[in-house]
Amino acid sequence: MTERDEHSSTGTVYLVGAGPGDPDLLTVKASRLLSSADVVVYDRLVSPAVMDIIPATAPRIYAGKASANHHMPQSEINALLVSLAAEHASVVRLKGGDPFIFGRGSEEAIHLSENGVAFEVVPGISAASGCSAYLGIPLTHRGLATGVRYLTGHTQDDELNFDWEQLADPETTLVVYMGLANLGEIAARLIAAGLSASTPLAAVERGTTPAQRHCVATLETAVEAVTAAKIGPPCLIIIGKVAGLAGTLEWWRPEQVVKNQDSA
Ligand code: SAH
Repeated sequence: MTERDEHSSTGTVYLVGAGPGDPDLLTVKASRLLSSADVVVYDRLVSPAVMDIIPATAPRIYAGKASANHHMPQSEINALLVSLAAEHASVVRLKGGDPFIFGRGSEEAIHLSENGVAFEVVPGISAASGCSAYLGIPLTHRGLATGVRYLTGHTQDDELNFDWEQLADPETTLVVYMGLANLGEIAARLIAAGLSASTPLAAVERGTTPAQRHCVATLETAVEAVTAAKIGPPCLIIIGKVAGLAGTLEWWRPEQVVKNQDSA
């Protein structure tokens, strides 16, 4: 019997985007799948409010995954999904934000496909869309940004070997995921590549959740501002002229929703 026969499954694995935190940002499909899941494999970044939707009867398997602290190696997660699909009709693989944006959802989909397991991808609101909306910072805006680029600030070998000249485009908004630890280097490289040191920047922690906190600075003052505001992970960084709109379009005030989140 080949490994494929052994695991030949009747179940489907749903690679579901949980959005950035606010459960109201789940898609209708994600919400429906979560409430009828047989088993859920979830990441660290999935908010407790989203986890609350899962029926008490469905086992929840934690797959870990913090940027520097991978609890379960990717190969193990891949194998786990294949074996769960052999036993359950509906396996929900729940990921923060969108499964196909810095979420390794595509790696899991490739593995499932190679093993003959049926899968579906349910897009989620990525941190970029969620955080920018809740901060009132549009990612594009006529006259300020003609495009937007998502970038990871953390690479496997921790070398930021990007084409900095190309990234230093004053007309393009840069959204940096996992960029907190390397913020100083990112800002310095962008300035060295020609982006103005006074380019606005916003850093938001736990965006769209009641614990959302943010600070606004410039490329030059970014590290100082983030340190002073004690911004921690998960943190999204928005760089570009649009970040200068922060404050003018604010509509969401998380501090009204929750108190005593400091130790959360
Ligand atoms: N697939 C996810 C991204 C996973 S990478 C998505 O589409 O959003 C994890 C990084 O996403 C974090 O380090 C952080 O940079 C960002 N992130 C995810 N949720 C966030 C949130 N609620 N607030 C701020 N940043 C967040």
